[in-house]
Amino acid sequence: MKLWVLDLDGVVYKGNAPIVGVSIFISRVRERGDEVVFLTNNSAYTRTYYREKLWRMDIPAQEKDIYTSAGLLAGYLSEFPRIRRVLTIGEEGLHFSLRKKGFMVTTQSSSVDAVAAGLDRRFNYRKLFLAQKAILSGAKFIGTNRDATLPTENGLLPGSGAILKAIEECTGKEAEVVGKPNPLGLELIMKERNVSKEDVTVIGDRIETDILLGKKAGVKTILVLTGVTGKEDLKNISPENFPDQVAEKLTNLLCVECG
Ligand SMILES: [Mg+2]
Repeated sequence: MKLWVLDLDGVVYKGNAPIVGVSIFISRVRERGDEVVFLTNNSAYTRTYYREKLWRMDIPAQEKDIYTSAGLLAGYLSEFPRIRRVLTIGEEGLHFSLRKKGFMVTTQSSSVDAVAAGLDRRFNYRKLFLAQKAILSGAKFIGTNRDATLPTENGLLPGSGAILKAIEECTGKEAEVVGKPNPLGLELIMKERNVSKEDVTVIGDRIETDILLGKKAGVKTILVLTGVTGKEDLKNISPENFPDQVAEKLTNLLCVECG
């Protein structure tokens, strides 16, 4: 059995538009007994949201096969028993994941044990101030991911990384980040499924998150050119970050991998 770890945006779909052939790729690799899981740095939505989105794109998926940076953050924070109150700068996915793990979530107070920050499309000066105050008073500072941009079907939006930078700038403190390229999520997936790294392949569209994650975890990496990385960007990738394989699209892997 092999385990395929797929990024979502830029690999499976672009915003709300499915990438052609992906559902065929996934059903083919499942037919031969492989497992497919999804690992996204986007913390804005819940597993339920992603499951429904995937089903609409003809990709059957269970919630247990979907990992988000919000879920990883909540799981990681729960290893610190003293942390109970969390100032959350984020959207539904992050609020929900933290509440599910039993944290008291606030968006209005700086009297907290931790500040959890991710993509927040309602980010403003007051939230920045509360985060600053909490962190300077000693709260733990943890971020979902450092993606600088958020690709949508209408172009780029500012990503979670831009929000983390703002908080870091006014506190002088660096966030601990659980999303890709931190191998934390992938290690959890391999442990839960009892798979060794020789049998794992990470497929992504972004070098500094997906491919770097694979490198750090010591697993095979495939870059697809359906997302943020184009053919013309390949020459700028440093040799140590270069993926094991480049495929223009996911379905190109079928003839090689599925025979
Ligand atoms: Mg992506």
